[in-house]
Amino acid sequence: MRRNLFPVAILHSDGEYAEVVPQLVRLAEAQDLIGAGESVLIKPNLHMEQHWTTGGTVNPGLVGALIEWAKERGAGRIMVADGPYMSHPHPENVFVETGMAEVVEAQGAEWTAMPRGPYRSFDNASEHLPPRLEISELVFEFDRLINVAVMKTHLDCQVTLGMKNLKGCISSANKGAFHYEVPDINRAIVALNRLMTPDLTIVDGTLGMEGIGPGTGTVANFGHIFAGRHTPSVDVIAAAAMGFELDEVPVLKFAREQGMVSPDDIRVVGEELERIRRRFERAHEAMLRELPGLHLCAEGACSSCKLNVIRALRDNVRAGGAVPDCCIVMGKTACEDGEAIFLGKCAGEQAAGRPHLPGCPPRVEKAREFLAQFAARE
Ligand code: SF4
Repeated sequence: MRRNLFPVAILHSDGEYAEVVPQLVRLAEAQDLIGAGESVLIKPNLHMEQHWTTGGTVNPGLVGALIEWAKERGAGRIMVADGPYMSHPHPENVFVETGMAEVVEAQGAEWTAMPRGPYRSFDNASEHLPPRLEISELVFEFDRLINVAVMKTHLDCQVTLGMKNLKGCISSANKGAFHYEVPDINRAIVALNRLMTPDLTIVDGTLGMEGIGPGTGTVANFGHIFAGRHTPSVDVIAAAAMGFELDEVPVLKFAREQGMVSPDDIRVVGEELERIRRRFERAHEAMLRELPGLHLCAEGACSSCKLNVIRALRDNVRAGGAVPDCCIVMGKTACEDGEAIFLGKCAGEQAAGRPHLPGCPPRVEKAREFLAQFAARE
């Protein structure tokens, strides 16, 4: 008997999204996804005020084309919503400074920052999740959810694609808990994907990011876009296109172990995967290359902490400075090294008189100054 396979579409993209989007949804067999009058929530990756040309955030042009397509399908209310990194003091700024707000408003659609709430609570939903998980109520209020990720490498998860993008929908407190309260962030992301299932997931690699992703890497001019109705399948194909074996990506490895995805159940349509595959530089490879001698003690720290500190270290090195030769501690990791230095609110709890820079996360400019003092001692 012929099995039902999940189609995952791959298309060449040079950023002409008005042409790409209708083809992409047709290939992904999602052209009939939106019924007349249905409400549509679009969740792009807008993790911080980073322009799309860096490969760090979703191109507003793609979201604009999706809104246009949804309107042509007869959609009713259309809203674009995301929550940036944990503790962001002004989440609306991310919409304004990335240009997303302008594009959405020009299309007559709505936008909102998810951290403004409200949230729906899930108590003891999984041993891999915080005891009280809070997901934006918008996810459940709208008829359709379109998940739009950028193709990026990631410091903690190897890649951030469609499954990881859903983490933007949880409360700020939960975002922190995913890093330092649950046993494994990758298993938590898999469990989250059991509670939220987008109707369509798009991973845009027109411009992606490689190296120290998700915010400090280099632009990957990959020129392809992916889509499908089954998020884990889209991620398997997108990760393979980036040169990752499935088991190299913990989220995909755990999802396969739990029967959520199998390469045997995927049918690639459009471009040939083998023809476009190219190896993205891994985050740890870029760290070794750019920051030789770095000794980080940051297991369980949030990526926003790590990325700000890495950005500060890299700025200092590029300006002719050096990496401190002591242990640099973030998060709640214990460190007995008497010479260690500590960055971030969490790390301050165990600094015990050793040098400490507060902040949640510490600001890049402050981190530059702080770290430079210790590099100068060498
Ligand atoms: S200090 Fe850093 S690790 Fe701690 S909660 Fe804030 S961002 Fe996360």
